[in-house]
Amino acid sequence: MDKFDIQKLRDALPIEGVAERLGLRVVRHRCLCPFHDDHNPSMTFRKGRFRCWSCGASGDVFTLAQKVLGKNFADSCKWLADENSIILTDYKPKQEMAPRQFDASRYARFFEHPWLSDEARRFLFEERRIDPRVARFCRLASWKDRQGVAWLQFPYYDREGRLTGIESRNLVKGASPRYRFYPGSATSIYAMPVLNRLGKGDELWIAEGPTDCLAMLSSGHKAIAIPSATLLTRDDAELIKALASQCSLQLHMWPDNDAPGAALFAQLKELLPELTHRQLPPGYKDFGEYYVAMSRKNADIL
Ligand SMILES: [Zn+2]
Repeated sequence: MDKFDIQKLRDALPIEGVAERLGLRVVRHRCLCPFHDDHNPSMTFRKGRFRCWSCGASGDVFTLAQKVLGKNFADSCKWLADENSIILTDYKPKQEMAPRQFDASRYARFFEHPWLSDEARRFLFEERRIDPRVARFCRLASWKDRQGVAWLQFPYYDREGRLTGIESRNLVKGASPRYRFYPGSATSIYAMPVLNRLGKGDELWIAEGPTDCLAMLSSGHKAIAIPSATLLTRDDAELIKALASQCSLQLHMWPDNDAPGAALFAQLKELLPELTHRQLPPGYKDFGEYYVAMSRKNADIL
């Protein structure tokens, strides 16, 4: 590709459209940073450039595509050129008043009879020791993209069982970004249908992401995930509060053993003062890891 083409791409491509095509979820010129473990959108877009105010990553469309895809400059240019027409036709800057809608009708059928690839089954049932009933309840599915990369898909439903968004996890070890949201996904709470099963005095565990949530559900607890305090909508926060008082729920969180985990707990505690801090034993970075270790130990005893 010559200099002229590169300049043409740079001028044509809106950086926020490129970000969305790369699986980032941009709201009001901000998104979760794919280059560090971000729970609050730290990455901002301005004048064709991105900057993360937390880890310092910055650059233009080319740097963004290169870093997210893990490709060199020439290959990322090729990717941008290939995706060019899709980005230009798909991307519509979101208005404050009219956020882009997630098109559930396009995807709902994939989760009616969800299929799990060998990679997904290995990850869920061997590596993470997820209970197959939990995988079915959450309607986990999988697919392979054009590059043959295996993804696990987490559909988000509201309490009425309507699909509101999809998050997918790259199953290739060390891939970055590991998680992507489908454009326009409403992903304030994961596993909302669990809220319909709450009874008086129940414990409700709050995970930081869908994978930990699956581990909590597999350990026999009622659990949802709230991936980000910032993306938690006011309505959803009010709903949890109302349920907590109606059913005298005990809200528990096992924050990740790191600074973002502590920050998320502090922010959620402000919204949900009833939230109790459960401490992971030292040496475990998140609940999922702890759960795997515990279930291995129990299997040994049996
Ligand atoms: Zn960052």
